Amino acid sequence: MNDASQATAATAANVPTLLVKIFGKDRPGITAGLFETLARFQVNVIDIEQVVTRGRIVLCALVPAPAGRSVEGELRATVHAWAESMRLQAEIISGIGDNRPRGEGRSHVTVLGHPLTAESTAAIAARITGAGGNIDRIFRLAKYPVTAVEFAVSGVATDLLRPALALEAHERGVDVAVVSAGLHRRAQRLVVMDVDSTVIQDEVIELFAAHAGCENQVAEVTAAAMRGELDFEQSLHARVALLEGLDDSVIDKVRQEVRLTAGARTLIRTLKRMGYQVGVVSGGFTQVTDDLKERLGLDFAAANTLEIVDGKLTGRVTGEIVDRAGKARLLRRFAAEAGVPLSQTVAIGDGANDLDMLNAAGLGVAFNAKPVVRRAADAAVNVPFLDTVLYLLGITREEVEAADAGDGGNARA
Ligand SMILES: [Mg+2]
Repeated sequence: MNDASQATAATAANVPTLLVKIFGKDRPGITAGLFETLARFQVNVIDIEQVVTRGRIVLCALVPAPAGRSVEGELRATVHAWAESMRLQAEIISGIGDNRPRGEGRSHVTVLGHPLTAESTAAIAARITGAGGNIDRIFRLAKYPVTAVEFAVSGVATDLLRPALALEAHERGVDVAVVSAGLHRRAQRLVVMDVDSTVIQDEVIELFAAHAGCENQVAEVTAAAMRGELDFEQSLHARVALLEGLDDSVIDKVRQEVRLTAGARTLIRTLKRMGYQVGVVSGGFTQVTDDLKERLGLDFAAANTLEIVDGKLTGRVTGEIVDRAGKARLLRRFAAEAGVPLSQTVAIGDGANDLDMLNAAGLGVAFNAKPVVRRAADAAVNVPFLDTVLYLLGITREEVEAADAGDGGNARA
């Protein structure tokens, strides 16, 4: 029997199958060699899996057991002889049928470690199992700047798995993101980021305040806002008022002083190369975000605008106020303009101001955020490299480097 009926029959649960496992030093020709050997017995292929780790190959093939004990014995002997000639180990295990069907509820679990320890890997795996999940596959996404691995998990709802793993991640000091496999991760997407302490290391208002000599007063207002005595809009107006009379030549200086977060350029470049649209929203100022938009090749940027009259800052802002609700509103607006459903958007931020935006997005990522933000977000990154967000989207380091090479440089910034 060597036609379509064989493959169809073999996938039936009660058909005898052989699992052929080859292990040894990887070199060209192993896969072709194994299947040429199996081809002599005219078997079909039900499943193949191959991985190479540090130069060692594990190649598994699932084939229907040939009818008749003597033919099966001959197949076994031939495969073993071939493996021996290649100095590989072979194991052939008789069984019934194919893999069990994967359970309901499928998630991608990305784990970022810096380093990734055996202990935290064990703890994460135990939590997955404890939540009723099954680990179907594990592979490494990246070894730089962090070790990133992805677990494909089935059998447990993403909503149940996420809190279980968030707790463990926090205890272990690793970052874990749980994303539903139902989300089309590679469908066209939009990424919207906060600016201060996310895309850049600075708080822009503090850079302006330093030029106005009012750092302390600005810091006092910020502290009052954090104590809940002022809302964002009040604190924005109070802080901007302190900049009144400042020469607008300061804007260029502040633009020069802004320090990008490590990995910001790599993140944006890779996303753009992969067809994502990328934007920033900021409670800071368009005088800085417009410049970032141009320098980084962003699709969208929105912020508050410092009013300037006769070459001086007036201490007021003009236009629509970008606050906590405003950031979420802008995410929706950018998504509509980009033609991307909200479920296919990613928002990244660090502050309480970003919470509405993080909640509105398909995936909200807390980046080195305060605990209140971390707890509310879908995923948290606590290493100081913005490009690690790529791994949460299932993008591998190889793809990142391909984007870098395509740009003729490998500058990390
Ligand atoms: Mg921020």
